[in-house]
Amino acid sequence: MSSYDNDNIFAKILRGEIPCDKVYEDDHVLAFNDISPQAPVHVLVIPKGSYTDIADFGANAPVEEVAAFHKAIALIAREKDLKDSGFRTIANAGVNGGQEVPHFHVHILGGKALGPMLRSSEAA
Ligand code: 5GP
Repeated sequence: MSSYDNDNIFAKILRGEIPCDKVYEDDHVLAFNDISPQAPVHVLVIPKGSYTDIADFGANAPVEEVAAFHKAIALIAREKDLKDSGFRTIANAGVNGGQEVPHFHVHILGGKALGPMLRSSEAA
């Protein structure tokens, strides 16, 4: 994925054009509940900067933004009581990764046993 699409749904959420159920916000990061939760806890964490996917973010985001992003994930996991029970983070990227929204985001999933990482039909 290369050029950033300013009209993607998460860009609209960041601009306040579409509402979200906010979980966390700081200077660099916004987190909100997924509209179609796949687990009792399903939070999406996004950088406020315009990055298409995790590769774009890792290559081009300033270190403060990368650090803030990881700190936010840790904070949300703690606040959602996921630290002891465990949880999963997922960053889908591009076509093969099944990414639907082309603004980098990490899913935080938890609140129940999530089973194997991939369904058997998705495994190699
Ligand atoms: P992806 O497949 O790109 O990794 O995941 C995109 C996620 O965004 C999906 O889990 C989907 O349910 C969620 N999503 C799509 N549109 C909206 C929206 O307008 N609001 C919220 N909160 N989540 C959305």
